[in-house]
Amino acid sequence: MSAIDPRDRGGPAQPLLIVKHLKKYFPIRGGVLGRTQALVQAVDDVSFEVKKGETLGIVGESGCGKSTTARLLIGLLPKDAGEIIFDGEALGGDLSLRELRRGVQMVFQDSYASLNPRLTIEESISFGPEVQGLDDPRGRARDLMERVGLNPDRFAQRYPHELSGGQRQRVNIARALAMSPRLVVLDEAVSALDKSVEAQVLNLLTDLRRDFGLTYIFISHDLNVVRYISDRILVMYLGEVVEIAPVDSIYAEQAHPYTRSLFAAMPSMDPDNRTEEPPLAGDPPNPIDPPRGCRFHTRCRFAEDICKTHAPKLKSLPGNPAHFAACHIHDPESKHSVTALEAAE
Ligand code: SF4
Repeated sequence: MSAIDPRDRGGPAQPLLIVKHLKKYFPIRGGVLGRTQALVQAVDDVSFEVKKGETLGIVGESGCGKSTTARLLIGLLPKDAGEIIFDGEALGGDLSLRELRRGVQMVFQDSYASLNPRLTIEESISFGPEVQGLDDPRGRARDLMERVGLNPDRFAQRYPHELSGGQRQRVNIARALAMSPRLVVLDEAVSALDKSVEAQVLNLLTDLRRDFGLTYIFISHDLNVVRYISDRILVMYLGEVVEIAPVDSIYAEQAHPYTRSLFAAMPSMDPDNRTEEPPLAGDPPNPIDPPRGCRFHTRCRFAEDICKTHAPKLKSLPGNPAHFAACHIHDPESKHSVTALEAAE
C-alpha cells in the first residue's frame, strides 16, 4: 500500500482522471488554398475514468484512436471538445496545461527518438526537473537511474546510442518519473522490446507503481501484456469506446462482438483458453466517413437493422455493474433480436 500523496485533493474515492466526451477530428487539407476537405474522426465522444492507483489498459486495432487519446490527455494535441479533469480540476479551468504536464507524464514506444542524442543520460533525466526549478535535478536523476536498474556510475555519462533498447526505455521511464508525476501514460512502451526484456520492464513498472503510488494508462496491441499489468481494460474501435471492464470480467466474458474478435486473434498457449470465435474480417471502415449507427456493424455477424441506424450507448451489463459495453445485444431496451446468451453460444 503506497503512502498518502500530499497532492491528493479529493481522497481515494475521487478518480485521478475523468475524461468526458473527448473529441478530436484531424482536418485533411487540399487544393491551392489548403482548405479543409474532410475530417478524420480520430476520437469521438470518448468518456472514461481512471481511479487512483489503478492501471487502465487501452486496446484496439491500429488507428482506433488510442494513441490520439493519450496525446490529448497530456496536452500534446489540443482537443476539439470535451473535458479532462485531473484530480477534481478541469483543464482550462482551475488546471493549467503546465500543471497537467507536471502531473501526467508519457513514455513512448520509440525509446531512441524520445531521447536527445546530444544529451548524456544524466542530462536527459535531469532536464525536466531543471526547467521546472525542482530541487537537485542531478541528484534526482542519479537516484532514479538506480531505481530503474541503471548503475549511475556506469551509465550517467553515456549517450543514448551506447545503450540497448531496454536500457533506453529504462531511461525514458526515469525521465518520466523525474517530474514526480501521479499518472504515467505508457503508449506501446514495451512493444519494441525483446520478450525477455519486455518482462523485466513490466516487472519494473509494477514495482514503480507500488513504490511511487503511481497510476498508469497502459496502451498496447498485445492483450497478453495488457492482461498482465492492467486492473481494467478499455476497448476502442474507430474512435469510440466499445467496452470497459475489470480485467477478470472481460477475460471471462467479452460482451462486445468486436472485443470477442480481438481476443480470438490473441495467441494463447493454454488449450482451454482458446476461443471458437471467428477472427475479425476485413479492414476497419474509413474514419473520414464512419458507418452510421454502430460503427462496427459493417464487420459484425450479429448486425441487424437497428445497428445500422441507432448508435448503441455504453451501458453496464445486467447483473455486472462494473462491466460496460456499447452493443444493442446487451441493452434490454433495444429492439435487437439476439440475446446476450444467444450471442455467447
Ligand atoms: Fe454488432 Fe449491433 Fe452490437 Fe454493433 S450494436 S456490435 S452491430 S450487434
